Amino acid sequence: MSCSSAVDPSACQACRLAEHRSRVVLPDGPREGVLAIGEAPGRQEDVSGVGFVGIAGLNLEAAFAACGLAREQWARSNIVRCRPPENRKPRADEVRSCAHWLDRVVDDWLPRVLLAVGQSAAARLIPPWTGSFLSHVERLLLPETGLPVYRGVPVVPMPHTSPLAWNRRRPDGTPIRELGLRAVRRAVILARDPT
Ligand code: SF4
Repeated sequence: MSCSSAVDPSACQACRLAEHRSRVVLPDGPREGVLAIGEAPGRQEDVSGVGFVGIAGLNLEAAFAACGLAREQWARSNIVRCRPPENRKPRADEVRSCAHWLDRVVDDWLPRVLLAVGQSAAARLIPPWTGSFLSHVERLLLPETGLPVYRGVPVVPMPHTSPLAWNRRRPDGTPIRELGLRAVRRAVILARDPT
């Protein structure tokens, strides 16, 4: 199946996820700042048509607030715009079908930084890595490490903000949310001063 640019974004039928969704969840928020990119809409997002309003979204909102940005000061999108059934991970062909929608947002909205929320979003936006995802995030957050770039925009990856991931600890006892907060802070600082 293909999805031409003439298709109304709210009516896209380009992949099987269209069969299960209630609504296409479109990106929202201000342009030219931080664009947070998640995996997929969840149940609340599917019902409301608004992104990042479930618990994971509220955790991310709190992380931004802790770094000085209210919800209306950062933008949101997902690697697929329709909820996968039972919240399963989007499949590779679904991500491919939805890719041009996300690419258009990245190109048109001129974000200063992309915040890849969770492993699926990071895998969509940055080159493959070896070892664990969280170790890779930690490595990329070191000041001396250059951030990967997607369509000319730096990408900061971070752990998923679902309660299951966000409230856990790493094997060394460090709370995962601490790593997430560091990532959000890096993205906010970068958006304010990209030099
Ligand atoms: S997930 Fe993306 S490509 Fe698939 S139907 Fe929804 S908007 Fe279209």
